[in-house]
Amino acid sequence: LRNKEYRSRFEPALTLDGTRIEVAANIGKTNEAEKAVNAGGEGVGLMRTEFLFLERETPPDEEEQFQSYKAMVEALNGLPIIIRTLDIGGDKAVSYLDLPAEDNPFLGVRGIRLCLNRPELFLSQLRAIYRASEFGPIRIMFPMVATMSELAAAKRLAEKARIEVGASPVEIGIMVEVPSVAVMAREFAREVDFFSVGTNDLTQYVMAMDRVHPTLAAHADSLHPAVLRMIEQVVKAADEAGIWTGVCGGLAGEPLGAAILVGLGVKELSMVVPSIAAIKSYIRSISMTQARQLAQKALNCIDNNQVRTLTLP
Ligand code: PEP
Ligand code: MG
Repeated sequence: LRNKEYRSRFEPALTLDGTRIEVAANIGKTNEAEKAVNAGGEGVGLMRTEFLFLERETPPDEEEQFQSYKAMVEALNGLPIIIRTLDIGGDKAVSYLDLPAEDNPFLGVRGIRLCLNRPELFLSQLRAIYRASEFGPIRIMFPMVATMSELAAAKRLAEKARIEVGASPVEIGIMVEVPSVAVMAREFAREVDFFSVGTNDLTQYVMAMDRVHPTLAAHADSLHPAVLRMIEQVVKAADEAGIWTGVCGGLAGEPLGAAILVGLGVKELSMVVPSIAAIKSYIRSISMTQARQLAQKALNCIDNNQVRTLTLP
């Protein structure tokens, strides 16, 4: 791996015509923050907090969560981190929460829905995050938001937690991974500081294809124009409201996906740590003009297979 790509991993990802794209890491464990920095990550674009809650008998208390978040912030040494609040439910089960079995767990009480049903669980996480925010730049992100009233309720609880611990405000954003939010992006954009598109779930919900289904998952391709057109709308709505859009789903870590997303106006790409150096290097090899032309072609394709035949102009 000691090639040119790897050696240049700490250089910024500037397109040939000078647009800077932030390339960040998706992490799920405390010790991965340091790995993200060493790999050239310019911060953490998605910290999945589920890891703290899985494979144990009782939930972590506020203090334990605070210590974990603080350790990550310190390992990042001034680089920003987006901490996503608990996204349990769906295919992730937790025994101590006594969650009723559901016929369609991906359409059930998952993510923010669960947290709003369990305000004490949610508040302890929010207090831990706000306490850790005194040690470095943290942003908060809510998963699986589908309605404006969920967002309002989540923001109210965040504000309550913030006041309880006496912390300063931090930026608050949402995952765009439910089609209703993409369609209503203009309204949501007025209520948040940033969007991060979760292409894994957005694709599953747009295509009605279970992302872990043994045969369908392979066809749930985020490069489908139906998904890309939604992302285009989201970026436009964000631009109009003066907020930024990132992408933290798997599409951000694929070269073709990254180029199309940059062409659609996405400002930040967050991905698994091993993809960071390669994607930064790839962005340095393309121009914004080329990326825009590629994105326009992709939007006009009839399906994902046609998108996958495209090359840079
Ligand atoms: C996504 O849905 O694209 C995403 C990044 O979140 P997760 O994979 O954790 O559901
Ligand atoms: Mg998701």
